[in-house]
Amino acid sequence: MSDPEIVIMGAPGAGKGTQSDHIAEEFDVDHVSTGDAFRANKDMDISDLGLEYDTPAGFMDAGELVPDEVVNEILRAALEDADGYVLDGYPRNLAQVEYLDSVADPDVVLYLEVDEDVLTERLTGRRVCSECGATYHVDFDPPEEEGVCDVCGGDLYQREDDQPDTVKERIRVYRDETAPVVDHYDDTGLLVRVDGEGTPDEVWADLRAAIEDALEG
Ligand code: ADP
Ligand code: ADP
Ligand code: ZN
Repeated sequence: MSDPEIVIMGAPGAGKGTQSDHIAEEFDVDHVSTGDAFRANKDMDISDLGLEYDTPAGFMDAGELVPDEVVNEILRAALEDADGYVLDGYPRNLAQVEYLDSVADPDVVLYLEVDEDVLTERLTGRRVCSECGATYHVDFDPPEEEGVCDVCGGDLYQREDDQPDTVKERIRVYRDETAPVVDHYDDTGLLVRVDGEGTPDEVWADLRAAIEDALEG
């Protein structure tokens, strides 16, 4: 069997990053996250494109999508290097669906279903390691020592875009631009819905079963 090609979707805070780490390990694929790629290149100079902001950080801190011309190039390069993938954070609008179709052929699109009230709580309590990128939650998944990464001892920080005002805007952008992508994959039969509101372990058990089913089928 060729390497699995898995897309994971869900609103901001649905648990995509958390679950992608499990998927990457269990199914031996690369975790390709456009959000992580942008955080690693947030001050990249894109001023020659004449867009609203001169860096990815401008769009991200406003809670907006980074324009497709920038995202698509990053995606293409990441997939070229991957031996199987779990794609987290892409596609986020219908134009990106079309682009993905031209460079890859996913086996399954997983959709983590989480209610909006729960999303806000998860996002505002999220903390991320400045060294290794591990994700925590102040209430739901706290580190052993406050502010310190269990994995590597790095300092934890709160993402600029996890402040309450930006969270609101990101959820709005999700509803307007990304929800149609979920409908699209529902129509084409690739979408598998998974309840994202249990504990991380419960969600992982459901997801793993859903992926095994989809890859066998
Ligand atoms: P979350 O997983 O919390 O929804 P991400 O880490 O995936 O957030 O993305 C953070 C930000 O990076 C987004 O709000 C957006 O500005 C930018 N970004 C990530 N992926 C894309 C994409 N596919 N298209 C446009 N912008 C993106
Ligand atoms: P996304 O990548 O979809 O934005 P994350 O995986 O970063 O989401 O999760 C968002 C926040 O919610 C993080 O602080 C994470 O620790 C926490 N979280 C993830 N999954 C769960 C869950 N099943 N129950 C409670 N909190 C969770
Ligand atoms: Zn760390």
